[in-house]
Amino acid sequence: MGIIVQKYGGTSVAGPEEIRRVARRVVDAARAGNKVCVVVSAMGDTTDRLLDLAREVSPSPHPREQDMLLTAGERISIALVSMAINDLGHEAVSFTGSQAGIVTDESHGRARIVDMRAKRVVEALADDKIVIVAGFQGVSESSKDVTTLGRGGSDTTAVAIAAAVKADVCEIYTDVDGVYTADPRIEPKARKRREVSFEEMLELSASGARVLMLRSVEYARNHGVKIHVRSSFNETEGTWIVNEEDMLEQAIISGIAHDTSEAKVTIQSVPDQPGVAVRVFRPLADAGVNIDMIVQNVSAEGHTDISFTLPKVDIAAAEPILTNLAAEVGAGGFTIDPDIAKVSVIGAGMKSHPGVAADVFEAIADAGINIEIISTSSIRISCVIRASEVQRAVNVVHDRLKLAEDIHLDGDLGEHAA
Ligand code: ADP
Ligand code: ASP
Ligand code: MG
Repeated sequence: MGIIVQKYGGTSVAGPEEIRRVARRVVDAARAGNKVCVVVSAMGDTTDRLLDLAREVSPSPHPREQDMLLTAGERISIALVSMAINDLGHEAVSFTGSQAGIVTDESHGRARIVDMRAKRVVEALADDKIVIVAGFQGVSESSKDVTTLGRGGSDTTAVAIAAAVKADVCEIYTDVDGVYTADPRIEPKARKRREVSFEEMLELSASGARVLMLRSVEYARNHGVKIHVRSSFNETEGTWIVNEEDMLEQAIISGIAHDTSEAKVTIQSVPDQPGVAVRVFRPLADAGVNIDMIVQNVSAEGHTDISFTLPKVDIAAAEPILTNLAAEVGAGGFTIDPDIAKVSVIGAGMKSHPGVAADVFEAIADAGINIEIISTSSIRISCVIRASEVQRAVNVVHDRLKLAEDIHLDGDLGEHAA
């Protein structure tokens, strides 16, 4: 008996049969005595298809209108899920993001939730209705326009609703059984984690493990929301995202994430003088381009190359800025390489086990894969490689770190004890 928020991703509501199955699962939770609020994504690959459609009509779709288009995807799902629940004899009511009181800033395509005014949701739950909320969308306070929260944004909607209605748990139902040591679609030996700490999940999500959107993890940590990631296709217990101090399972390595959504930019032969870095990165930051890994090579004869990664979706915005700034700082030119992938190993135990980085580099080297950029944090090692090698790199690193086996800090540390 409690308040449960359940979020169903696109695959879970892909067609009429799946929608009826979700409805049965939701009604079961309600009949067990819970108040249930459901957040749904657009059916199947609807969001991708709508994006393609927009680009067929317009080479660079107006951001406001693109959001208007995309929010229609989730609107279809909420109505259909509501109908299916009503047919099972339980009263359901659907709300768009705006009706559910999700207030955002104005940044179309990547809006941030700035306030939750979930009065209608709270009242409908109090009335014993099952509430269905459209994921991935909100409304801007200032412009009153509908906005979207960025790809995977329904996770964030679910967590924000869970915080607003003080839910006991936010269940993220997806097409895998939980959070694994690597994407189970490219690493067949990946092992499901029982628990992952917020700190590790933040790094995994930021490094490309799209099973939970980064902002949903930040929001859950800041508002104390309990997340349970599990499959909508079976009853198996999934993965709990918990505070580090509450973890029962203390693995050295939490998992491997890979990301093929970024491109590598190299600005060649930049004069090696004070102030050059700020002249390069300030205009990109001002345009909202998210720079990730940055390396500056050693200066040769007063000139140096600067390489960094940025999301492929930001290339269109970055290109004219790069053309200007390369001329302005007197660089030799620049290249944009979209055929890269980033492979990251994440684990809180790395802080005290320095041998991990060497193991990762050795596994990648033994596979004959060249590392183009390396960056690290205290709990992450990331390598940029060719996109075509990504699966092999994940496989060899997963094997080398023995992630298919249960490794505990208090157990046998093997070669990581160094
Ligand atoms: P949904 O539509 O339910 O939101 P997503 O496609 O956004 O689903 O996220 C689930 C997918 O995340 C899985 O199908 C899987 O391929 C991918 N994934 C990437 N890394 C991991 C990981 N470490 N554990 C589980 N799934 C992962
Ligand atoms: N439908 C949106 C997307 O595909 C939001 C989501 O599924 O979380 O990104
Ligand atoms: Mg998702």
